[in-house]
Amino acid sequence: MRRLDARALYVGRFAPSPTGPLHEGSLVAALASWLDARAHGGRWLIRIEDVDRPRCPAGADAMVLSQLARVRLLPDEPPVWQSKREAAYRAALDRLQASGWAYPCGCSRKDIAEAIASRGRQRERHGELVYPGTCRHGLNGKPARAWRLRSTSTADGEGALRIAWRDRRLGEQSQDLTDEVGDFVLLRADGLWAYQLAVVVDDGWQGVTDVVRGEDLADNTPRQIRLQEMLGLPRPRYLHTPLVLGGNGEKLSKQNGARALDLGDPLAALRRAGARLGLPALEARTMPEWLASAAAAWSVRQGGGRDLPPLA
Ligand code: GLU
Repeated sequence: MRRLDARALYVGRFAPSPTGPLHEGSLVAALASWLDARAHGGRWLIRIEDVDRPRCPAGADAMVLSQLARVRLLPDEPPVWQSKREAAYRAALDRLQASGWAYPCGCSRKDIAEAIASRGRQRERHGELVYPGTCRHGLNGKPARAWRLRSTSTADGEGALRIAWRDRRLGEQSQDLTDEVGDFVLLRADGLWAYQLAVVVDDGWQGVTDVVRGEDLADNTPRQIRLQEMLGLPRPRYLHTPLVLGGNGEKLSKQNGARALDLGDPLAALRRAGARLGLPALEARTMPEWLASAAAAWSVRQGGGRDLPPLA
């Protein structure tokens, strides 16, 4: 079931994981996606990405929504919670299982580390070991723990697969999915749905045409494109925005203790987020005035809305 309004040329979204309140970096991503939707005359949605429930404290979703409302970033439709979308993720996994692209994996982290070590080659990607494909051709008597998607070019072979894509800010990108990422998890050993599957199913269901998000997520894009291909979903356009770095030069994130957004003066918070996105100082006394001027400035910067390449 698709909710896409066939007339909608642009549907954007902000998809926070409610692991805590928004911080300055998340406001930058939220504002960028809102501005891009407004500058292109599109709709803007909010999706609460709470699939990783143990990491989402009670009430954090309401807090995030009230922070967004405080800076007048209001969605054009009621927000969607991923925790209510499990049947859709299950249906997608069923399809991938039936087509042979998804397979069960019985490996623990230790099994994976040992298999890699025995090959004398330790590959790590953001602290995750690149899966060596141990269960690709069967579980060898082990119980299934997780489900993975094959990162190869054919469902029954080993051929390497390179995914090429274009980012509106970063330009042409490409990633060797097989070698750099490996067969990735769709349903985790702890029974939780993986971000990659949930995000692709929901972007497709919500008719999202434009993903605007922080650059730290750019690296996930090839996995998401592959899943879109496997599930017959259209590929959105992508724009990854610059990251907000903390004083230590690291990306601001809840994990490294970024403070919650200071909304004592919400207009000042918007101005700070706009400056991070390279917007000029704007004459405005109220938030609606500032947001309207910011959308106009964003539109000029994007070539009056004519910058969007056609959808693939
Ligand atoms: N939920 C993800 C996060 O908060 C963002 C997902 C996305 O924009 O694709 O990091």
